[in-house]
Amino acid sequence: VKSAIYSPLVKNGRFAGLFGIQSKGASTYSEADRRLIERICSQISGAVALLEEQEQKKRIEAERTDLEENQKARSELLGSVAHELKTPLTSVLAFGELLRRDRDGNLSSRQIQQVDAIRRNGRQLELLVSDLLELARGEAGEFQLNSAEVDLSDVVRKVVADFSPSLASRNQMAQVEAPADPVMCMADGPRIGQALSNLVSNASKYSDHGTRIEVSLRRNPDQMIALTVRDHGFGIDSQSLSRIFEKFYRVDDPRTRAQPGTGLGLHVAKLIVEAHGGEIGIESAVGEGTTVRITLPRQILLESE
Ligand code: ADP
Repeated sequence: VKSAIYSPLVKNGRFAGLFGIQSKGASTYSEADRRLIERICSQISGAVALLEEQEQKKRIEAERTDLEENQKARSELLGSVAHELKTPLTSVLAFGELLRRDRDGNLSSRQIQQVDAIRRNGRQLELLVSDLLELARGEAGEFQLNSAEVDLSDVVRKVVADFSPSLASRNQMAQVEAPADPVMCMADGPRIGQALSNLVSNASKYSDHGTRIEVSLRRNPDQMIALTVRDHGFGIDSQSLSRIFEKFYRVDDPRTRAQPGTGLGLHVAKLIVEAHGGEIGIESAVGEGTTVRITLPRQILLESE
C-alpha cells in the first residue's frame, strides 16, 4: 500500500473504528478524496447513532408494555382474590351478628365475648378486603360509583354501630353528631361508608385505650356536606403528614407499627371522596390527636324531607 485515507467512525462520542480507502499507487488521492471520506464517515456515524436511538426507543417501549401487562395481571389477581374472599366473609359476619343477638338467651358472657371477637376481626378483614378491591378497581381504571338516593345520617350511624365491638374492646367511645332529619344525597352509600369506616378504624387504632372519638356530619351554610372524624390519639408529625395519602404509606413509629394495617385506608378514602367530586384533608398534632375532614359537594345533596 502506497497511499491511503482513513477517518474515524464515532459511536456515542467514542472512537468505534476506522473507515478508509487504500491504493498500491503512490499519491493516488487528492484533498477532495480526503474530504469525501470524512463526509462518508460522519454520515455513517450519524446513521449508527440514529439506529441506536431507535433501538433504545423500541426497548423502552417493550419494557413499558411488559410493565403495564404485569400491573394489569396483578390488579386482576388482586381484584378476583378480594372478590372471592368477600363472599365467605359476609356470611361469617352475618352469622356472627345473628349469634350475637342471642335470641334464646343461652350464650354465656364468655361466649358473647368470643362472638364479639369473631365480629371484630371479621370486620377488620372485611375492611381490608374492600380496600384491596377498591385499589384493584382504581388501578384497572374501573372505579365507578353506584350512586343512589342515600341518607348520609344513616350511613354515619351504621358505620359507628358496626364499630361498637371493636371500640368496646379498647374501652373507647364514639360520639356522633348528625342532623336528626335525613341528609338525603345522590351518592354511593356503601363506598362513603367504607371511607368513613377507614377513618373511624384509624381513629381507634392510633389512639390509647379509653379515649374519645368524635364523628360529625354537618350541612354547612354553603350547602357543602362536611364529614369529620376527630381523635385524641398519637397524632402524626408534619413530615409524615405530607405523605399520608400515598398508597401503602405508614408512619414509621413503633406505636403505629404495633397496630395492624396496610397503608391503604386513607388512600382508598381519598379515591372514594374524589370520585364523588369531594375533598379530604387531615390535620394533626403529635400527642394531641388527628382530625380528618371530608367535604362533599352540594350537587349530590337532594332536597331533605
Ligand atoms: P393503615 O391504618 O392500614 O396503616 P391508612 O392509609 O389508613 O393505613 O393510614 C396510613 C398511616 O397514617 C397509618 O399507618 C398511620 O401511621 C397514620 N394514621 C392514619 N390515621 C391516623 C390517626 N387518626 N392517628 C394517627 N396516625 C394515623
